[in-house]
Amino acid sequence: MDRNPLATFCDNRVFPVVSCLTFVSPPSYPLPMAKLSIQSLDVQNKEVLMRVDFNVPLKHGAITDDTRITAAVPSIQHLLKGGAKLVLCSHLGRPKAGASAEFSLQPVAVRLAELLGQEVKLAADSIGEEVAALRAGLQAGQVLLLENTRFYPEEEKNDADFAKQLAGSADIFVNDAFGTAHRAHASTEGVTHYVKQSAMGFLMARELEYLVYKLDQGERPFVVIMGGAKVSDKIQVINSLMAKADTFIIGGAMAYTFRKAQGYKIGKSLVENDKLELALDILKNAEAKGIRFLLPADTRITQEFKDGAETRVTAAYTEGGEIPDDWEGIDIGTQAIAEFSKEIASAKTILWNGPMGVFEIGSFAEGTRAIAQAVADSAALSIVGGGDSVTAVNKFGLDDQMNFISTGGGASLELLEGKELPGVAALTNV
Ligand code: AMP
Repeated sequence: MDRNPLATFCDNRVFPVVSCLTFVSPPSYPLPMAKLSIQSLDVQNKEVLMRVDFNVPLKHGAITDDTRITAAVPSIQHLLKGGAKLVLCSHLGRPKAGASAEFSLQPVAVRLAELLGQEVKLAADSIGEEVAALRAGLQAGQVLLLENTRFYPEEEKNDADFAKQLAGSADIFVNDAFGTAHRAHASTEGVTHYVKQSAMGFLMARELEYLVYKLDQGERPFVVIMGGAKVSDKIQVINSLMAKADTFIIGGAMAYTFRKAQGYKIGKSLVENDKLELALDILKNAEAKGIRFLLPADTRITQEFKDGAETRVTAAYTEGGEIPDDWEGIDIGTQAIAEFSKEIASAKTILWNGPMGVFEIGSFAEGTRAIAQAVADSAALSIVGGGDSVTAVNKFGLDDQMNFISTGGGASLELLEGKELPGVAALTNV
């Protein structure tokens, strides 16, 4: 049965060469040793299945940000240069009911062909006889992109039969999809049981290099900047990093939970009332360990949650500057910016996860912008750990001044929580 209605209009098309990129060199630093690396593989004339993260944002069928495609190019080029018959697979979005044009990887195939400067065939499906025939017909140095793996619910269920079909006749699997490595899906974990070797690609290796190895061995002082909406989302990261960090800087709405727990008035600011005890425990724990745990001294507040609304900065909490009942905190205040920036300037290693305020709204973005600038100006090794802080750094045009920006959201958080990612654990040990 042909389960994929895309077959009619997609028809295993070959996307032509439009432009050419020069070869992107693989990273020059040594890759983490515990797992097999793409650099150690002999792929000449061999079929290689590679999981990539081509889950790009699309608007009316056009890619609005191709970062995830360009990020996979070094590994793809390395394998093609080595003479692999390369089969790529990825998910795109969250298709609910099987195959649909809306979630087709067709625009990705077009963009990838442009970036590689060579043809990229798009299969109409990810498994099945037609796909097997296309795979069998691949020559060394050619690329075949399989259609969205999530057109099959078996993908997210890590179904063994689906994983086996995806592995097909490939003996080598490469996983470069860091953003989905925290999920045990057929294309990230299951497939490794049906190949001889499973290696990490350059992107995966770089994420592990920075988020695990460099943070472990980072020079002191190690300053962790945490922000965002909720303490509950970050509690495990805070607990895990307590073992490594010298200083925590806390911004965003999560600061109000700490301030309320300390007995201050926080007006109608976002707060987690069921996490007040937890907040106090964190503060006590930090004190007992001799870790500096810095909360914002003051807060930028508003009565209206919209761009252009009037804002004020409170006096410092410790000087009676609490948030009035009908006002809410939307950013850190000026004293907090100055204190945090000073702390950042003397750091040797910085990890940043989560914005200092509602940076999406222009008039509430000052604190996040200032902290992003302080991190950019610092001589420390700067690591931006996924999610909204990445969006903020990009928005302020400071991305090229950071040492490393993670491409993963959930995957980076889980790594920072000290968890082993299923997509990494399943790779071949060396
Ligand atoms: P997270 O995904 O937990 O990193 O949270 C990021 C979100 O927290 C962003 O969308 C921010 O707008 C939001 N945020 C940060 N500070 C505040 C605040 N003071 N009040 C409300 N939302 C905030």
